[in-house]
Amino acid sequence: MPLPQHLTIGLLSHNPGWEILLEQIGAIWEVIPATAELTAARYSVIIANGSASNATISQRLVAYVEEGGSLLEEGSTLSNTIFRAGQPNRGQQWQGGMPTPFPFRNGNILTLGMKVGKQAADTRAKRRLFAAPSAILPSEIVARGNKGEQRMLIHFLLSRLHSLRGLPFVTRWRFPNNAPTIFCYRIDSDHGTQLQIEQLHHLSLAYQLPITWFLHTEAHQGWLGRFAEFEGDELGVHCHRHRTFKGYRENVENIRRAMELLRQHGITPRGFAAPNGFWNPAVADAVADCGFLYSSEFSLGYDDLPFFPWLRWRGRFGTLQVPIHPVSPGNFRRVGAATAQMIEHYQTTLQSKVMAAEPVIFYHHPTHQQWGVTEAIFADVRRHNIPAITMGQYAEWWARRSKASVRANLQNGLLTVATQPADGGDAPSDLWISVEHHCEKGALMPANATVRLEDIRWEREVQPPAKRQRVPSFNFKMLFHSVEDSLTRLRQ
Ligand SMILES: [Zn+2]
Repeated sequence: MPLPQHLTIGLLSHNPGWEILLEQIGAIWEVIPATAELTAARYSVIIANGSASNATISQRLVAYVEEGGSLLEEGSTLSNTIFRAGQPNRGQQWQGGMPTPFPFRNGNILTLGMKVGKQAADTRAKRRLFAAPSAILPSEIVARGNKGEQRMLIHFLLSRLHSLRGLPFVTRWRFPNNAPTIFCYRIDSDHGTQLQIEQLHHLSLAYQLPITWFLHTEAHQGWLGRFAEFEGDELGVHCHRHRTFKGYRENVENIRRAMELLRQHGITPRGFAAPNGFWNPAVADAVADCGFLYSSEFSLGYDDLPFFPWLRWRGRFGTLQVPIHPVSPGNFRRVGAATAQMIEHYQTTLQSKVMAAEPVIFYHHPTHQQWGVTEAIFADVRRHNIPAITMGQYAEWWARRSKASVRANLQNGLLTVATQPADGGDAPSDLWISVEHHCEKGALMPANATVRLEDIRWEREVQPPAKRQRVPSFNFKMLFHSVEDSLTRLRQ
C-alpha cells in the first residue's frame, strides 16, 4: 500500500504576513520543524518564504521538487540557481497577470518574485479611488495595498500547485456551516437622530435582517437605552467622542467612557469600529486591552476575510479584524452620485462577492439617509438568499475556525479529514471543509469524514481571481476631500 499523501503545506520559516494569509485561506499548514524530512509525501506544497535559505536548505528543497513536490518560492534565488544550472525550459513566468509554475524534474516551481508576507502584514494606509458607476469615482482612506486581492491570488496559486500534483486543495471553509457567503450590515451611528435610527431599525425589521451598530455614545445620550430594545441586532462601540488619538491613554479613556455608558443600559459590547475607519498602533493596543472580540477598520483591511493583525511593536497578533467593503453611500454623496448609481454599485459588488464566495459586509451612516439604497441592498440579499448575521457572530465563528486543527491525507483515492478544536473537545459542528480540484470545481464536506475523491459531487465552480478593474489613482475631488476631512477632524 502506498504511503498516505499528507495534504499539509509546509512554511519554511515563521513569518507573520504568511501566517495571516494561510489562516485567512484556511489552509492546513505548519512551519516546517528543523528535524522534519522534506518529502513529497509529507508536504503537498512547500512555501520557501524569505530569502535566508542557506545552501543546505536549498539542496533539500531541490530534492523535494525532484521527487515530485510543488514549491512556491517567494523570492527567486532558488529558481535562478536551477535555471542557471541548465534547466532547459523555464517558460513564461507571468501569464495574464499571474505567475505560472515551471516544471523541474518530477515537480514544479512557482516563483512569486514579490514580498507577499511583507505586504500582508503592512499596516500603512492611503486614500484611493474605487470603481463605481458614478461620473466621479468615490474615494476613501484605506489600507495601502489591496490585501484581499493578494490573498485571492495566493489561494489560487496554492490550489494550482496542488492540482499539478493531482492533489485536492483542502481548506477550512470561510463561512459557518456550508453557507455560500454571509451578509452583515454595519451602521456607524455618528450623529444620527433618533428618527433616523428608527427608520433604519424599521427597515431591518421589515426585511428581517440584523444590523450591527457601532454607537457614538456622546451623540445619543438620553436615549441610548432604545438600542438595547433592538432584538437580534448587535451593539458595538464607535467611541464616546467621535475621534481617534495617537496616544494610547486617550483612546482607552474614549473607549471606556462609551463602554461604561452602554453597560448602564445593560449592553455588553463585543465589537469596536474606530471613527473614520482609522487604525494606528495606539488604537490597536487600546482595543486589545479593552477586551473586544473584534474590531473593524478599513484603513487596515477592506474587502477581505477576517484576520489577526500583526502588532510588530508587541511581537504578537492583535484583536481579530473584520474587514468590510469600505464605500458607503456617504462616499457617493460627496461625489454627487445619484441614488440609482449607488444601488447599481452595491448590486454589482454583491454579485461579484457571491461569485467569489467572499463575505458581503456593507456599511452606512444614518445621517446620510438614502433609505432607498438600504432597502435595495436588503431586497437583493433576500433575493440571493444570503444568510444574514451580525459581525460579532461572524467574528465569534471565525475565532473558533482559527483554533480548529485540521489534518487531511489522501491514500488509495480516499480523502480523510480529521478536525479537532484546540481545547481538545468535539470538533466544531458548524465548520465545514472545502475541497478544490483542478482549480475548477469545489465541494464542501464535514470536518471529520472519509470520502473517495472520485465520488465527491462537485457543487461549485472555483473562480480564478477576478481581473483587476483599472481605476485611476487620482482625481481632483480626492485632494478636496483630504483637506475637508482634516478640517472636520480638527473639530471632533
Ligand atoms: Zn463615524
